[in-house]
Amino acid sequence: MDSKRVETIIIGAGITGSVISYYLNSPILDKAKMAGGRCSTGRMSSKYLYDKGATMYKNSFHYTINNKSNKFNLNNYLNNKFPNLKTKQIYDNMFVPENGMISLVSSFIKENNLISNIKIIKIIKENDYFLIMDDLNNSYYAEKCIITCPLPQSLEIIQDLPFYKEWEGFTQKYIDYKKTLVATGLWENLSFNLDQNQKISELNHKDNLEYFTIESQKFDDYQNLILSIQFSKEFSEKNFENWMDENKNLNKDKTEIVENFFSSIFSKYNLNYISPSQIRAHRWKYSNPIVSMFDKDNEINFDSVTYHDYIELCKKYNLYLTGDWVFGQRAPKCVLGAIQLSSIFLGKDLLSVEGSLP
Ligand SMILES: Cc1cc2nc3c(=O)[nH]c(=O)nc-3n(C[C@H](O)[C@H](O)[C@H](O)COP(=O)(O)OP(=O)(O)OC[C@H]3O[C@@H](n4cnc5c(N)ncnc54)[C@H](O)[C@@H]3O)c2cc1C
Repeated sequence: MDSKRVETIIIGAGITGSVISYYLNSPILDKAKMAGGRCSTGRMSSKYLYDKGATMYKNSFHYTINNKSNKFNLNNYLNNKFPNLKTKQIYDNMFVPENGMISLVSSFIKENNLISNIKIIKIIKENDYFLIMDDLNNSYYAEKCIITCPLPQSLEIIQDLPFYKEWEGFTQKYIDYKKTLVATGLWENLSFNLDQNQKISELNHKDNLEYFTIESQKFDDYQNLILSIQFSKEFSEKNFENWMDENKNLNKDKTEIVENFFSSIFSKYNLNYISPSQIRAHRWKYSNPIVSMFDKDNEINFDSVTYHDYIELCKKYNLYLTGDWVFGQRAPKCVLGAIQLSSIFLGKDLLSVEGSLP
């Protein structure tokens, strides 16, 4: 970023920020060392892929704009834009990119746009510019600023702006987020081939196991087993603080609890339990907003009064706070929302071209 003064800066390189950066061709800052945010993918034993946050996506959903109902089909959109990004169907309308959810995000990042390892702590206004400061005392100037962090983090960054209260008031009902703990186990050389009809993700709201996925099968690995568990809100809240040690490994005193959950999954498939060779732990402090402007399961209505008011507030101060608390806590909804927001920004109707592909 030459002289660190640009027209538009984006903060947060999750799926929302990355799509916007793609259309605006603007720099994007992220505190992490890679793009991805809640669509991040890791490797167990430096080899085997597994998703740490979002594990798959629903391909299509409806939205309304200019009184017209449309269907957004993410795969058609991706195939058209990034023919090299291979995706595969897991079941029903659910898909995963072949190299994990992170590849969905990284497809949108253009060379030189991503500036990583930059944690923004404060934004103030200096004349017509936003002065954006990181935790290493570097600063960046931009005329317009788009912040895509989970809402509580975005509000924290802007609290010294003169119009902070207006944003705080508008976003009040979206401020509460759920915490989610995740544990992922690796069993090398353990084949675990399920019946084709059996879903590789299962819901189980009992016993604090909210959701589990067989990550290895998602990536067509039938020689090794990778299981990932997302825990319930209650369990996650209770165990959040001491879930991991200082090296970000699962705390030793949590191993037994986690293994009990793994063991219950083994018994579901009539397998004798053995301990995994590795366990990875993650914790999402802001896993997803409890209330979002558009619900994850319903259509997005870009004609709604609330959305209209939201856009007016963004335009009023050239400050755009956005992300899944607006569009709904699902990656494809963030993609569509980011395209629509980019349209407004550029004054171009991107949606009728990009959003209505057959
Ligand atoms: C456990 C879990 C499971 C999920 N499962 C699914 C699923 O199966 N399917 C699905 O579609 N969706 C799922 N979701 C929801 C989906 O992941 C999110 O809705 C979506 O990824 C949100 O993207 P975003 O870009 O809005 O935010 P984020 O991905 O959170 O991006 C925000 C970015 O801002 C950065 N950031 C934060 N603070 C700062 C700062 N101060 N300075 C600089 N950078 C900062 C972060 O590092 C991050 O990269 C899941 C989410 C979680 C947590």
